Amino acid sequence: MKLDVNVLRYLSREDFRVLTAVEMGQKNHEIVPSSLIDTIAGLKHGGTFKCLKHLLRHKLVHHDNSKYDGYRLTYLGYDYLAIKALVNRGAIAGVGRQIGVGKESDIFEVTNEEGEVMALKLHRLGRTSFRAVKSKRDYLRKGSHFSWLYLSRLAALKEYAFMKALGDHGLPVPKAIDHNRHAVLMTLLDAYPLVQVRELSNPRRVYTELMEMLARLAGLGLVHCDYNEFNLLVNEEEEVTLIDFPQMVSVSHPNAQELFERDVECIIRFFSKKLGYVPQQDEELELIRPSFQEAVAAIQGSIDTELRASGFKREHQDALDRFVTSRHGESDDEEDSSSGEDSDDEGEEGSESGSSAASGSGVAGSSSGYDTDAEGGDSSAREGP
Ligand code: ADP
Ligand code: MG
Repeated sequence: MKLDVNVLRYLSREDFRVLTAVEMGQKNHEIVPSSLIDTIAGLKHGGTFKCLKHLLRHKLVHHDNSKYDGYRLTYLGYDYLAIKALVNRGAIAGVGRQIGVGKESDIFEVTNEEGEVMALKLHRLGRTSFRAVKSKRDYLRKGSHFSWLYLSRLAALKEYAFMKALGDHGLPVPKAIDHNRHAVLMTLLDAYPLVQVRELSNPRRVYTELMEMLARLAGLGLVHCDYNEFNLLVNEEEEVTLIDFPQMVSVSHPNAQELFERDVECIIRFFSKKLGYVPQQDEELELIRPSFQEAVAAIQGSIDTELRASGFKREHQDALDRFVTSRHGESDDEEDSSSGEDSDDEGEEGSESGSSAASGSGVAGSSSGYDTDAEGGDSSAREGP
């Protein structure tokens, strides 16, 4: 995905107004009729259509006249809306190089006016199986519109809420700075995924920290579900930071213990096979595997209050659960059919192979109750339930 922020400068106020109108129209329309965009934008003298042409040229919208004349946002269009919002409120000033490509996200370096460098994660939930989502839409939402915009926004909201809550509880995670639409702004880590590490000077210490962190998470009522060498970053000092939270579940989830054990196994396997450190053979190692039961028994209170404070509600969790359940058992080749819908502007594939632990694993059912009327986030499309 090319994210040329210079394009932002070529976009006028009117262009953004029209882009926002397309986003608003997508609350109820998969393809927003041109006439509706014109009505929402309210520009005089055919201004809307001039802007649409401009937006189309920069691939911020996709034109579709198979059923009627209409448009929808591309990933890029949605990216620009989120970036523009973050720029407008002074959270960021510029976007730099891409530092990560996940299966369902793109991560960029960004800076603010003070020159601080941060990380911006743009969620692309459904990137690899949007088509499958569409085909299951009726099942998912009983006929109402359900889109990657909505899913990606939920994933970002969830990630922000968890990152913030875990950070507040002292866990080693990036600091959650801000979020808008499908974007999460966080501190940039001077660290690399464990998968890139060939050797640790003190594997026992790192291993112990990883197991303790799993126990601490469970002690907060949570299972990460994607606890692996791609989502654990280590720095020069071999300190660990955990990232990537959209798939986390509550310990009250029916499969929580199984998911917890899988997280443990992932680490044991990686240390044994890739780092040559076999926990079971280290006699001085005190904690080979933490006990799920013990951790859960020690839970005091819940983290729900913090999650709700960020605007992440029960209904959001339920919607994400339905999406994850819906792609259970899907094969990857389901997605590249040829109707051309996604082809020109967002057909790129993710490449991270190891981070699919929770996807398609039936991480369904609801987590603990994230249900209040806390502040709902931003002004973006609300095509959700
Ligand atoms: P995904 O959900 O797509 O797997 P991740 O959050 O795991 O996305 O991020 C993908 C990659 O981007 C990571 O493996 C890591 O290399 C890099 N990355 C993510 N967040 C940060 C950060 N805050 N600082 C530095 N690198 C990061
Ligand atoms: Mg990841």
